Amino acid sequence: MKLFPLFANLEGRSVLLVGGGAVAERKAALLVVANARVDIVAAALSTTLGEHARAGKVRHLARQFSAEQLDGRWLAIAATDDAALNAAVAAAAKSRHIFVNVVDDAELSSFHVPAIVDRSPLIVAISSGGSAPMLARLARERIEAYFDHTWGALADLLGQARARIRARFARVADRRKFYERVLRGPVVQLIHQRRHDDAAQALVAELGVAAMDADQALPGDAPFAATAPNVGTVTLVGAGPGDPGLLTLHALRAINEADVILHDRLVSDAVLDLARRDAERIDVGKIVGKHHTPQDSIHALMLSNAVAGKRVVRLKGGDPFVFGRGGEEIEFLRAHDIPYSIVPGITAAVACAAYAGIPLTHRDRAQVVRFATAHRKRSEGEPDALTAGGETLAIYMGVAEFASVRDKLYDEGISAGTPFAIIENGTRPEQRVVTGTLAELVECATAYKVHAPALLVVGEVAQFAEAHYWFGAAPVTVK
Ligand code: SAH
Repeated sequence: MKLFPLFANLEGRSVLLVGGGAVAERKAALLVVANARVDIVAAALSTTLGEHARAGKVRHLARQFSAEQLDGRWLAIAATDDAALNAAVAAAAKSRHIFVNVVDDAELSSFHVPAIVDRSPLIVAISSGGSAPMLARLARERIEAYFDHTWGALADLLGQARARIRARFARVADRRKFYERVLRGPVVQLIHQRRHDDAAQALVAELGVAAMDADQALPGDAPFAATAPNVGTVTLVGAGPGDPGLLTLHALRAINEADVILHDRLVSDAVLDLARRDAERIDVGKIVGKHHTPQDSIHALMLSNAVAGKRVVRLKGGDPFVFGRGGEEIEFLRAHDIPYSIVPGITAAVACAAYAGIPLTHRDRAQVVRFATAHRKRSEGEPDALTAGGETLAIYMGVAEFASVRDKLYDEGISAGTPFAIIENGTRPEQRVVTGTLAELVECATAYKVHAPALLVVGEVAQFAEAHYWFGAAPVTVK
């Protein structure tokens, strides 16, 4: 059986729904949204269907089914748990040439109701032809994750501009070029930023610029100053600590759509593997002490690619705004009028603690968490307070300087017996956790040859690493 896919306009058209239970309820909901006239035949209506009936959204036609009830209908749906009744509805509908769906019975059905991803007016419908509804549902879940909820707003906006776009670009090829360009540029980004008015304006501007490019401006159309034509976008994306499962859906989508990915050394291969194959990847990674690519060249790369109309993803380990210099990059982009957006990521402290079984806060032991870095751009007179009692301290970038970190903690009165945990390569297959007390920090780090990236957690909660161990290699300690 090969099905012909179609979307039916049921507005004001009459549909007979046989059944008044939970399944019928779901079908009725779809029909009501499509503005169909729904007549229900059922011994009794579910509470919700009863409410719909009282509200006039559906009509309770009869308690008993009879074939004539089908006369004049466009569609019929049999959704009862009575197989004989379902079959009778199917037979009566078939003899009248009325399309009928029998719930969970592909054989008796002359149409199927697909699984849908609803981004109205954009709708994705999925069918397995009745052979594996479960697979269709699974496919739906995947697609659901892929299309974020802004697609509907984008479809609406393009719908409103459609006549105008057609008028501007009579030739299909020109229209396609225009759409391709719009779909890669600031209009889409503004929709993502939930700035719909700005998006509408940007679309008008694109129309003006594009039309002048193609020398097709209509008489009534105001000429637009062709400011940065074809400018691309930059998205600052937090890639999380390494495990690709910790990417957000927004991060995944941005990586998938990128033309150019400027990534840090910290970003794992597993994450980069998710990028479109033809996306250009540039490692702008820096190793502490040796600045392979100084921040200025990263800025220059973002700028040149965006100006060339590319969708640039600036991909950073963890979160872009936690020890990631994301703030500086945004300032730079603002200064150069490059449209940008930001996707947060799971920062190393949060991810490493979870993968090491360390609760960062604890009712009895830690009421405050502080994220600090061992490298600090220090200003005159700045107090050196790293931590205090009842606090968890997560220290980034401390691998090379455990001795000085320890001494600073001592200076602040943190006792030598305070537990620590070092999480090296957190969330990655090669994760290691080293635990001990502050007095043993340097000895442990040396004994286990701890290397970057590693996060140091100091505080009472660090001792939970032993008891809560669940991921990768078991925690080790020098004893
Ligand atoms: N923006 C990043 C931090 C960048 S600073 C974030 O939000 O996580 C780099 C430091 O982060 C490393 O020196 C290390 O201390 C920590 N780090 C990042 N990824 C890590 C990982 N997978 N395991 C342990 N520490 C990590």
